Amino acid sequence: MPVTPASEAPIGLMGALHEELALVLQAMPDEQRVRVAGRDFWQGHWQGRPVVAVLSRIGKVAAATTATALIERFGVQSIVFTGVAGGLGEGVRVGDVVLAEALVQHDMDASPLFPRHEVPLYGRSRFAADVALSQALAQAAQQVLAQVGTHVGAAAVAAFGLHAPRLHTGLIASGDRFVSTAAESRALRQALPEALAVEMEGAAVAQVCADYGVPFAALRTVSDRADDDAHADFSRFIREVASRYSLAMLSAWLGREA
Ligand code: SAH
Repeated sequence: MPVTPASEAPIGLMGALHEELALVLQAMPDEQRVRVAGRDFWQGHWQGRPVVAVLSRIGKVAAATTATALIERFGVQSIVFTGVAGGLGEGVRVGDVVLAEALVQHDMDASPLFPRHEVPLYGRSRFAADVALSQALAQAAQQVLAQVGTHVGAAAVAAFGLHAPRLHTGLIASGDRFVSTAAESRALRQALPEALAVEMEGAAVAQVCADYGVPFAALRTVSDRADDDAHADFSRFIREVASRYSLAMLSAWLGREA
């Protein structure tokens, strides 16, 4: 790993959405592109802090490769993941935000050799998010959700019913599958009753960060309910809501840290 004092080491910002990355890049005055492993990593500053922003790509392997490169090649001191997810938990609605307390791979199953969901040879199925980093992000998220109308246009607020969006903290499940039927969503809730949301990258990044001892946090905007309507309005939601939330939350968090 590059030898950089922790205070100067950059923060890794990993997003799953093109729209989100575009807004972050607009906010970085001095971004420079470095291409590694076929990905564009954007090095620069935001709110005076050194950052490296990158698209994770979709799925666990792509996200793990991206996280490894952020750590090995860019020496990041922490990684924060933002993107969208399907809501699973009761009361986790479109437009709400889920902050990971821990992450699990819902499609990991080496039973009967190991208990279902346990990552073989790690002796556990869940990887915890960093507490201090998550607390700081929770404050930023609350601040943004309390005034959603200043970050999202009135038409999108009305279209998606973003009247009192909430922050939920708990378990996020990741797997290589876009969960888009009510039956699948039900099966997931049965297998992992505490899971609040489902996505395709977070638990992989959490595992890489645990391997390297790098603090990790994940903040996901709920874009769908992981049911038969999961794909409806997905692009519009990302463009008009999720990308704005991510920008506002990351900006509020970095502003406080500075
Ligand atoms: N943006 C792509 C589709 C991405 S797949 C496109 O429209 O071409 C879904 C992405 O959003 C993944 O990065 C995943 O992490 C997250 N996601 C949102 N809702 C999800 C759901 N119901 N199931 C699984 N992943 C979901």
